Amino acid sequence: MRRTRISSLRAGVDLVAAENAGRALLRALGIDLDSTATPDLARTPRRFAEAYAELLTSESFDFTTFENIEGYDEMVIVSDIPVQSMCEHHLLPFTGKAHVGYLPGDRVVGLSKIPRMVNHFARRLQTQERLTVQIADALVDHLAPQGVGVVVEATHTCTTLRGVRAGTAITRTSAVRGVMRDDPRSRTEFFALAGHTPH
Ligand SMILES: [Zn+2]
Repeated sequence: MRRTRISSLRAGVDLVAAENAGRALLRALGIDLDSTATPDLARTPRRFAEAYAELLTSESFDFTTFENIEGYDEMVIVSDIPVQSMCEHHLLPFTGKAHVGYLPGDRVVGLSKIPRMVNHFARRLQTQERLTVQIADALVDHLAPQGVGVVVEATHTCTTLRGVRAGTAITRTSAVRGVMRDDPRSRTEFFALAGHTPH
């Protein structure tokens, strides 16, 4: 067994400064935080700061891999992994699912570590495209598989709640590496197992 520590990238969170900034932001948006009619608003800047700090903090974890002693050489797919991330353009959440597959090389990974890896890259300011690529590249780096494929399907609240109000529009992104990119059969198998047909 081999453990690789995947560390949170974050510097410190200053909750007091974030709360003060949140209070200033809400006031600038014309919200009266001191109204006796809505006393609950007094603590809203604090809750706001805590919520954003949580959504932007990725926990460190151990990426645990094992020698592939049985020589397993079929695709491993973990699908419907929840994705909760934050659009870096609007500071609004985007949510959906990731489907991650790999064809093992000399090592296999504990399956719970794939959702942890997705979460690690999701809990920060992101674009969906970068999130997809980062998950694929991290698995290449830490697992050295024969191939990796990642599909992310997400709904962006910055699109569905404002502007053109594109309803439930779903954005799909994919990243493929190794045989999933270079071998047509592996590529087709991955996208079929991931429930997604590339354009
Ligand atoms: Zn956005």
